[in-house]
Amino acid sequence: ELKLERLNKVFGEQAVVRDLNLTIPEGAFTALLGPSGCGKTTTLRILAGLEHLSSGRLLLGDRLLADARVHMPPETRDMGMVFQSYALWPHMTVAENVGYPLKLRKVNGAARQKQVMEALDVVELGAYAGRSPQELSGGQRQRVALARCLVSEPEVVLLDEPLANLDRHLRATMEQTFREFHRRTGATFVYVTHDQAEAMALASHIAVMHQGELMQWGAPQTLYQHPQNAWVARFIGKGS
Ligand code: ATP
Repeated sequence: ELKLERLNKVFGEQAVVRDLNLTIPEGAFTALLGPSGCGKTTTLRILAGLEHLSSGRLLLGDRLLADARVHMPPETRDMGMVFQSYALWPHMTVAENVGYPLKLRKVNGAARQKQVMEALDVVELGAYAGRSPQELSGGQRQRVALARCLVSEPEVVLLDEPLANLDRHLRATMEQTFREFHRRTGATFVYVTHDQAEAMALASHIAVMHQGELMQWGAPQTLYQHPQNAWVARFIGKGS
């Protein structure tokens, strides 16, 4: 499980994440849901190790990832990330991008190629293996980034608004891809979105955030049927 204990993040004068307590069970598909500016992305970046926390503790199982003094670097956290900028290497082919985490781990060429092709098939980009990322559309790049994240079989997969820039058709396809990947890998997914309907459709657990605070945590059905306060009721109700 991934445990957030009284996490706080302050930028200058502004408390962006406030006393966030959350225990995300292993293998959950969790959505961090809330309106723009509520601190979702900052929370995800704290999980990833891209942001230091101001106070509190972050644990993965019994491993301390971070507190006010300790900060495990991102590459040692066994987490895969797909952020909005995708960050593919322009000088490498699609297949080389996807295979890069395996190369770092010294997986040999033949085994690497096999895993890369499998991952590219799942995101339906097998035919693009030899292309440059620059020749791909935004949605295709995103799928490459997802394939790259998943070949390394991380314990935790972090996704920041991964469907935001996609058209409706591709969005439906990608939702299916996420479900499939989640099922196959058994990884814990943490997924940031401001879209209630999307979170309700995809997530097993939802953390609703408002102005840096956790408003409610629970299964989609529970949030829908038993909102803890008027704000959650309004916010969840809006999307349906
Ligand atoms: P969105 O859906 O619009 O991305 P969000 O819920 O993900 O919003 P965050 O990106 O976490 O929100 O930002 C929360 C608040 O923290 C915002 O008011 C933002 O301006 C502020 N913030 C984020 N990063 C920084 C930073 N590096 N320095 C100062 N303030 C920041």
